[in-house]
Amino acid sequence: MNKKEEIKEYLSILKLNTVKDTLGDILIKAEKNDTSYQNILHEILEIEVKAKQKRAQKRRFRQSKLNPDKELKDFNFKFQKSITEKEINQLLDFEWLEQAFNLIFLGPPGVGKTHLANGIGIKAVNHGYKVKFFGLEKLIKILKTHEVVKKSRLELKRIKKCDLLIIDEIGYLPISKEEANKFFKLISELYEQTSIIITSNKGFSEWTEILGEQEITTAILDRIMHYSEIFNLKGNSYRLECRENILKNKKKIAEA
Ligand code: ADP
Ligand code: MG
Repeated sequence: MNKKEEIKEYLSILKLNTVKDTLGDILIKAEKNDTSYQNILHEILEIEVKAKQKRAQKRRFRQSKLNPDKELKDFNFKFQKSITEKEINQLLDFEWLEQAFNLIFLGPPGVGKTHLANGIGIKAVNHGYKVKFFGLEKLIKILKTHEVVKKSRLELKRIKKCDLLIIDEIGYLPISKEEANKFFKLISELYEQTSIIITSNKGFSEWTEILGEQEITTAILDRIMHYSEIFNLKGNSYRLECRENILKNKKKIAEA
């Protein structure tokens, strides 16, 4: 084995595979530029560290279950006027997340609550935070099955370790008393530790209908709202206003 092959073997054992794959180029460039030992060592380590960070970010994104297609850059603030781009941008320093504050997006269906929550979630992942996105129904399922289903147990562990939990669509389906209690237990555990973003199509006064009893609803709201910013989104459904029409599309294609 020559020196270069031996280096590759060592890199492989050390799992420094990005450097291993680009070693030839690195050495040619270093020789050509007469690079100092310090600079070449710096470059090698930098390549591997950057690749590692990129892999970690990809993994965090995969585990977050966020929708990659709903980014903030695609949100049209001219259509949704009850929130400004500036307000959303102010959230992107993530000071609120460091302080375990919560965000609540309320409003009728189609006004962009989920899109905004998801878009903020993507930015948080890019900042290095651990994020989990769930519809309430899925979250409740995890809470109900974590004692018997391994996948749910793992998910719950990740939820408790994440920096930001996004709970989407509170209000579409009512939940049972037992489910509300489990939900309350989770909210209590996360209280003052983990930021939560909630989206709901129901105002707080209607939450008792979804969560069952008044007492448990108040207890849940009490914790969520203690440190929180509430955004009341208004307006018409983007889905309906920007409805794509099959026949109109066919006509457009035929005319093109
Ligand atoms: P909600 O959660 O309030 O019911 P969504 O966020 O799911 O609404 O929005 C419904 C659909 O319309 C999604 O496909 C979303 O991307 C899109 N949408 C809503 N508001 C906007 C907006 N202001 N700009 C761009 N797309 C939007
Ligand atoms: Mg939604």
